[in-house]
Formats: sequence, C-alpha cells, structure tokens
Amino acid sequence: MAQPSRGRDAAAASLVWIFVLLVIAGGGLLVLSRLLERVNYQEVPTAPTPALESRDEAVITAPPSKADANVITRDFAPDAAMPRARRRTLITYTVVEGDTVFGIAYKFGLRPETILWSNYDVLKDNFDLIRVGQQFVIPPEDGLIIEVERGDTLDGIARRFGVTPERIVNEPINGLTSVNQPLQVGQRLFVPGGERETVIWQVPKLIPVRQTARGVRVYRVGKCGEVAIPPLGTGSFIYPTNRRYLSGYDFTRYHPGLDFAGRLGEPIYASDSGTVIYAGYSLNAAGVPVGYGQYVVLDHGNGYQTLYAHASQLFVSCGQQVAKGTVIAAIGSVGRSTGPHLHFEIRYRGAPVNPWTLLPPRR
Ligand SMILES: [Zn+2]
Repeated sequence: MAQPSRGRDAAAASLVWIFVLLVIAGGGLLVLSRLLERVNYQEVPTAPTPALESRDEAVITAPPSKADANVITRDFAPDAAMPRARRRTLITYTVVEGDTVFGIAYKFGLRPETILWSNYDVLKDNFDLIRVGQQFVIPPEDGLIIEVERGDTLDGIARRFGVTPERIVNEPINGLTSVNQPLQVGQRLFVPGGERETVIWQVPKLIPVRQTARGVRVYRVGKCGEVAIPPLGTGSFIYPTNRRYLSGYDFTRYHPGLDFAGRLGEPIYASDSGTVIYAGYSLNAAGVPVGYGQYVVLDHGNGYQTLYAHASQLFVSCGQQVAKGTVIAAIGSVGRSTGPHLHFEIRYRGAPVNPWTLLPPRR
C-alpha cells in the first residue's frame, strides 16, 4: 500500500522542484534585465555626440593656446557654451559689470582687436572706454565690421583692410552677390580677416591748475604732471617728415591722422611750436607697446595739439618747449608691425582735424 503513496509523493516533489526552478529562472531574468538596463544607461554618456559637445566646451574654457584647444575636458559651464560650427549671424552683446574687451574677445574666441575695430563708434579704438550697458556687435570670426561711407568701393575697402574683394563678397553675412554690386552708404559690412592700425583716441587730458604771474596757464597732464603751456603755436603747420607722401592710411573716420612714409631713424619735426604734454610709450597691461607705440604730443597753446606716433626714439621730454621744425623724435614702427612710418594727427580742441586741410600744398 505504500507504493502508490510513494508515487504521489514523488509527483508532488517534482512539482516543488519545477516551482523552485521557475522562481530561480525568473529571478535570474530579473537580475539579467536590471543588468541590461544598467549597461544601456552607462552607454549613453559615451555616445559620440555628447563627447563632441564637451570638446567644444574645451575650446571655450581652455586657455587661449592652440595646443590646449584639443584637450578634452569634462568641466561644463553652460553659460559659456558656444557652438563650434561657424556662426552665420552677427551677435549683439550687452556689456555687463566686470566685462573687459579682452574677456569678451576670449569668450567668443576672437582677438581683442576684432571687438575694438568692429565697435569703433562705441570704443573709439580705446580698450578703456568700455562701459556697462554698451552694445557690441560680435562677428563670427576675426576681422572687422565697418559702415560703408560715401565714396567707398569694395576694392577700396578690401585694400584698406588687407583682404581681397572676393573675401568680402563671399561672406554670407554681407548678402552680396558680386564684386560689382554697388554699396549703400551706411551699409554694414563684415570684413573677414581684415586688419587695420589701432589708434587711441584719447590724448592726455588737460586739467587747468593755475596761471603763472606772466599769464601762462599751467595744467595737470597725465603722466607729465604739471605743465605750463604758453601760446607758442603760430597756427600754421609744416610737414613733420622729409617725405610728404603716405605709406599707410589716409585721414578717415577710422583713422584720424596721416601715415607718412619714412625710414627707420629719419627725423620727425615739430609741425608747429609747442609744449610737450606727452612723451613715452602707450603700453598695455602686459607692458607691450600697443596703439601709438612710442609717441609725443605737443600742445600749441592755441587750441591745437599735434601727435607723432610709432617713434623709435624720442628727443624731448614732458614740459619741454620746442620751436616749429625742431627734431623731436625718430621714425620707427613701435606699436605696429607693418614697417616704419609716422602716424601724425592734428586736433583742435580735442577733435581730429584732417591735416591735409592745414598743411601747405605739396610741391
Ligand atoms: Zn596711422
């Protein structure tokens, strides 16, 4: 009688085993699916697209050196994220507290000069004129943005900024179709790769201090300190160089002076009698000559000031009075790399004057 009972027991036992096996298999499947989920989850961040994005980040956040641009960094600063692909538009950037031209340039991966040259109306070529709330136009790559003026041609603009007319036409932002297309006065053009001389609009400010017994006005003038400025100027000007032709830029809105041709070391003459109110370098924060390089400013005591820039040597110093025709400096190319010349400016009550209107006719 025990046999059938043993048979039933065996069947029950095998049912239990089947149940146990099912539970184990189910658990195994569950664990396996969890594992698969994890694998899937882990694969996401290693997909190629985000990796490229983080490389773009490196371009923006790494120090401005070509070697470092390829370094992959995981540091993420979303507000600084800029697409690596070339922009097809101009950006308007509003200056905020703490901004510098150098900082903005760095943020957009551009040279500081690109920001300076592209915003002449705001900055007047002076890095220090940046103010909170100013709006800068930011081109997609290095170069400069200009407004077309009366008489401008594409050829002339291209020559002035050292590029080919084709390069300006091929720039999609400009919406030009051919090199023969007429330009509109006031039209904004981006000149990719364009360069020009940087000049600093601000000359040393004259702050009246007192008058001497003889009625000579004494001013506080920047680094020169107190300078007596008698009215020495005659109001007529002579050529400041032996060569009376230009080797660089003519007088324009963007270049408030004349670039006279010259060889290194040739004399620079005082264009009229006056007093030295600046003699020295214009240096950036790193101590590198920028803009005018080494220069002299004479105040003629009659509202006129003249400026002589890029000198290789100075022969005068602050407060010195010089007669018209005195050799005050030697021609050089300091502050600029394209060869020796004299950058010469005349200002009347601070405003730039076209020197051609005051210099005698060339013969
Ligand atoms: Zn110049």
